[in-house]
Amino acid sequence: MKTSTIVAATVGTLAIATVGYALYFDQKRRNDPDFRRKLKKDRKRAQKLAKDEDKKKTTQSAQSVEEALAGIQDEEFPTSMEDREKYCMEQLSAGEALFTQGPEGYGLAAICFFKALKVYPAPAELVMVYQKTIPGEVFSLVMGMLSKDVQSKQEKYYTVFPPKEMNVKIEEKPEGVTADGQKVMRRGLVAAKDFAVGETIYSESPVISALDPSLEGKDFCHYCLKQIQNASTKVACPSCTQVVYCSETCQKSAGVEFHDVLCTKDTDEVDGAERNLAEYTKNSRNKVVQMLAKFLVKMVYEESVNSGVEYNAFDHMERLRYLEVASSPTEEKEIELLRNALGSKIPGIDEFITEERYLVMKGRLLYNLYGISTAKDPNRAVESSPERERSVRDGPISGAGFYRVTSYAWHSCEPNGKLDFAEGTNKVSLVAQREIKAGEEILVGYIKHDDLSTEERRLELFTKYRLRCMCPLCETTD
Ligand SMILES: [Zn+2]
Ligand SMILES: [Zn+2]
Ligand SMILES: [Zn+2]
Repeated sequence: MKTSTIVAATVGTLAIATVGYALYFDQKRRNDPDFRRKLKKDRKRAQKLAKDEDKKKTTQSAQSVEEALAGIQDEEFPTSMEDREKYCMEQLSAGEALFTQGPEGYGLAAICFFKALKVYPAPAELVMVYQKTIPGEVFSLVMGMLSKDVQSKQEKYYTVFPPKEMNVKIEEKPEGVTADGQKVMRRGLVAAKDFAVGETIYSESPVISALDPSLEGKDFCHYCLKQIQNASTKVACPSCTQVVYCSETCQKSAGVEFHDVLCTKDTDEVDGAERNLAEYTKNSRNKVVQMLAKFLVKMVYEESVNSGVEYNAFDHMERLRYLEVASSPTEEKEIELLRNALGSKIPGIDEFITEERYLVMKGRLLYNLYGISTAKDPNRAVESSPERERSVRDGPISGAGFYRVTSYAWHSCEPNGKLDFAEGTNKVSLVAQREIKAGEEILVGYIKHDDLSTEERRLELFTKYRLRCMCPLCETTD
């Protein structure tokens, strides 16, 4: 079961009426006018019925909402677009038939409307329709179910993530004690089995990554960040001269996930919003705003393909630690660039990118980014980024990536784990540097500290990551 990020965000406050909803770049909706027409017809019919709505109180209680939810917990929802449409229409008309019977039908009607919401490609929009067309009592029940559903999805997260095949678990670990004696906890990665020295624990591709802006468009792939050593294999974007790819596969993936929306197009008639964003990235060497643009487009793409993956990019990001980023003219400018570049293409994105949400997303990226080394040629090394990224800088850095699982790896000055970009792409492998036993925490280095004194190292870790290192090296040099 899957609930849209936007619906989840709105249910959180139940401010459905005022919500500037629908961050839903919704290919299905666009591609299927029939679906909308059918729904409109249904809405009209429902509106008529709602007029005669019985005002008697429903007997459905909050408890039966939970029961109802439990009842459909294991229900399999159809997966193909065609089946989902059929299913959705069936639930909508069944729900409508039920609520016209009066209060005794409200509970079952709510279940039907809830089920329809689970498969409808633009749930936020459907919620708006419900609000206008179904009896208030039924609407409250549906929202109650949705709210519970979102809550249980939140609670379930760490029981299904990370996936078993990654051989790690996320567990709470003590981080220290506050001045008044309160225990501080954090999350960390723990080995699910034993690993020998040099063994790969897992590999993962980033949610989103970006090249250092100075390498863009030359001999590094815009999608996987690989250095393209043979010019004949280079694939250009069909619409712009700003980016290149190592293969057609990368070009296609980048296209559907984010580049089709963010491409500068390099034509005269296009307005400059995408170009302004690209220029800003290049001139400021600030990748984060571009990465957030890619992130948001990819998140909406993931929701629109509705692949059955329960947690999307946003679900993964919203649980992570972040740095406090204060608003400044820089952030104001970045928000404007982002809204302009995406606003006309993703309905509702303007309202979604509030200043508060932007600052937190930026803080999450800055806290969790890793430097990526893909350059085969050491001469292609770039100056370390002005932005924060975790890296012990063993090799030249070519970009940065945001990873679902690796974000949870905690720092040690003497780590037992090491990040490796063995394929020369943004795919990272976590490799055991020492023998690691099941249940042991896996730690990596966030900073290179060979040239730093203990004090300098501590200061850097604290200012960059609010982190008081408790590794043996830091504990014994006290
Ligand atoms: Zn590539
Ligand atoms: Zn392009
Ligand atoms: Zn340390």
